[in-house]
Amino acid sequence: MNKLSPQKIKILRVIYNLEAQGLPIIGPKEISERLQISKSYAFIAMKELTKQGYLLHFPRKGFRLSEKGKKVAKRLIRNHRILEIIFVKYIGFDRETACCFARVLESRIPSHIVEEIANRLGNPTVCPCGYRIPAREECEEGIIP
Ligand SMILES: [Zn+2]
Repeated sequence: MNKLSPQKIKILRVIYNLEAQGLPIIGPKEISERLQISKSYAFIAMKELTKQGYLLHFPRKGFRLSEKGKKVAKRLIRNHRILEIIFVKYIGFDRETACCFARVLESRIPSHIVEEIANRLGNPTVCPCGYRIPAREECEEGIIP
């Protein structure tokens, strides 16, 4: 199984969001702006992610997520939304605070822990903000050390 660093996982997540907003192809510039990393580091990381099969590279144009890359992004969204449920329902955070903590933890919590939580919650399909939680089968497992 391919382990990914939190930084690389974040890059995949940003690309997923940009694609969802309708951007067909994404370059290191967009990534460096959003993650506050240098453009050259973003490019190197994106090339490595391509080698690992998470991105598709179109030379001189940019990058897109592969199916494998999409599964990683969906894993983060699933982690995020399930954590939000815990924070809102059982800790009493408001939605904004819950979202903040979920963002920090989404790329760091191993998926087997999230799945254990999901089971105990009765496998919820909607987060506290009303967004759909991607199903376990749509999501990559074991990418987070
Ligand atoms: Zn959120």
